[in-house]
Amino acid sequence: MRFRLGNVIFLTLVSFMSLLWILARADDKIKIVTSLPDLADIAKRIGGEKVEVEAIAKGYQDPHFVDPKPSHVLKLIRADLFIHIGLDLEIGWVPPLLEKSRNRKVYYGGQGYINASEGMSLLEIPNVDPAQLRAQGDIHVFGNPHYWLDPENGKIIAENICNKLSVVSPGEAEYFRMNLDTFGAQLDSAMQVWLKKMEPYQNRKIVAYHNSWPYFTSRFNIDVAGFIEPKPGIPPTPKHLVSIIKLIKSENIKVVIISPYFDDKPAKAVANRSDAVVVSFAPSVSAFEEVKSYFDLFDYNLNVLISAFEYFEGSDKKK
Ligand SMILES: [Zn+2]
Repeated sequence: MRFRLGNVIFLTLVSFMSLLWILARADDKIKIVTSLPDLADIAKRIGGEKVEVEAIAKGYQDPHFVDPKPSHVLKLIRADLFIHIGLDLEIGWVPPLLEKSRNRKVYYGGQGYINASEGMSLLEIPNVDPAQLRAQGDIHVFGNPHYWLDPENGKIIAENICNKLSVVSPGEAEYFRMNLDTFGAQLDSAMQVWLKKMEPYQNRKIVAYHNSWPYFTSRFNIDVAGFIEPKPGIPPTPKHLVSIIKLIKSENIKVVIISPYFDDKPAKAVANRSDAVVVSFAPSVSAFEEVKSYFDLFDYNLNVLISAFEYFEGSDKKK
């Protein structure tokens, strides 16, 4: 009996020690929190098995307007690294979350804080005072913040993450650099496929709901001729919609792109009164079920765009 009791105590101790060991090992990982799922996917590729990554926003949420929640604060309290897009994209939700977390490591300028826009070549930097633009309701006051939608910019984001990870964990710097090189090479070969696919559709004109796509369209040579929003963040007026319908007709535009978080009624109304189709683009990883990675994001958007162009090619041929 005594022997059995000893066995039980021994086994319990072993289980307890194993649990502690597992917890300690889990704790070894660098905890990364990102504002957007696109940054989380890139961070996972660079950090590999050394990191645990979670994103605050979902890919189907408008990145300009996410509701800050206590569960987001909890994530940030435990974070070793925080990565966001910057340029005021997340102005309404990232500053209050960082403040509430009281985590100095990941606060602006902290050793675990990453603004992914560092070193980025920005498009559409306004000449006007940001405060003046903000007063007009514009939400792109420092230049267009949707830079993750060019795969080449994914490399710059990845490099910023690699550099910071190497400071936080210098012993793993070589491992992070190796992952960065692999990611760059994978993007390069995917890019060749994407550019080739888009070759027949160069300089086609489209209309977009929000000005989210200048990085994407300049990479793949598509021309955004107008927007359903009169200014980024300002809902369309009937007068503005009439001018967009005129534009679509005069320029023979066939495609209007929207994102899942916008009201599709104005875009559909415009499309119905012209001869265009409305296509829903994925603005981020996880926007739709099939968009699971940063690579899927471009596969998905290019495929739906090509399908829309092809639809009209097909109907023109039938005529
Ligand atoms: Zn925007």
